[in-house]
Amino acid sequence: MHKKQPLSLTDRIALIDGFDMGVANRTGTYVIKEEQLTLIETGPSPSVPYIKQGLADLGYSLDEVKYIIVTHIHLDHAGGAGVLLKQCPQAKVVVHPRGKRHLADPSKLIAGARAIYGDRFAEFFDPIEPIPEDRLLTKDEGDTLEISPTCTLKFLNTPGHARHHFSIYDSVSNGVFTGDTVGVRYDQLIKDGVELFLPSTSPNHFDPEAMHDSIDRMLRMKLDRVYFGHYGMTEKPEEAMMQVKKWLDLFVEEGEQVMAENLGYDVLSSRIQTHIKKYLEERGIPDKHEVYMLINLDMDVSSLGMIDYFQKVKH
Ligand SMILES: [Zn+2]
Repeated sequence: MHKKQPLSLTDRIALIDGFDMGVANRTGTYVIKEEQLTLIETGPSPSVPYIKQGLADLGYSLDEVKYIIVTHIHLDHAGGAGVLLKQCPQAKVVVHPRGKRHLADPSKLIAGARAIYGDRFAEFFDPIEPIPEDRLLTKDEGDTLEISPTCTLKFLNTPGHARHHFSIYDSVSNGVFTGDTVGVRYDQLIKDGVELFLPSTSPNHFDPEAMHDSIDRMLRMKLDRVYFGHYGMTEKPEEAMMQVKKWLDLFVEEGEQVMAENLGYDVLSSRIQTHIKKYLEERGIPDKHEVYMLINLDMDVSSLGMIDYFQKVKH
């Protein structure tokens, strides 16, 4: 196991690195240190030992966890919920109403991820445990969850990346936990002084208009912070979200072009990667930077999601 202390983002919110795919600063679990100890996202099952270690480092036991909230049910966000819940006897898992049945019976989720990740599925995601219905709590648009006398979380329906996606507003920090709705933050570039935020358009619910609408809604909230599913927090939410909206338009434009030429997702991915490379090159990031391993993988998956979207629109 990698050794790493949880990162304190505010005096009451910490971030545990789950080393998703064995990579640091990729996917994390947020800990909200209120009376009812609350986690947001679990990452995949191989991240659960890191959550356990991170909570211990923060001075908590798994018995103290009351809520495990997942922004959506993709396996890199919620795949570990079943395994984690088994070790948290006091906890409930909070999920979007559209996601509930897939956590109770993950067979479709597993089949979907196998189709994308193939041979590497087991390494990234196994085992995926079903969650008993009576331990699942659903929250819909406008619903709230009181986790202390001074903190009530509010749930917002935020489709675009997935239909079974909500985001969680924390009024104390004036921040939103956005899962994948407003894109991915590449923490690997921060040390080089570059802030890159790209939309996540993976299969199979990607909807560019809904994504723009969800981002616009959050822009109107005048937030002080955004907590990304991947990875970490920004205190410049407006800049981040405006950047994602620009990239989203460019992704869709390239997607339309590739569809018109009857080409595949691999061509789309490489064309988008060319744009990103140029953008990073102009900011002094070398070709061999570690971030490209993640960007290239993400663009492959995002391109699959875009082709899937355009095929549905055409029919
Ligand atoms: Zn996702």
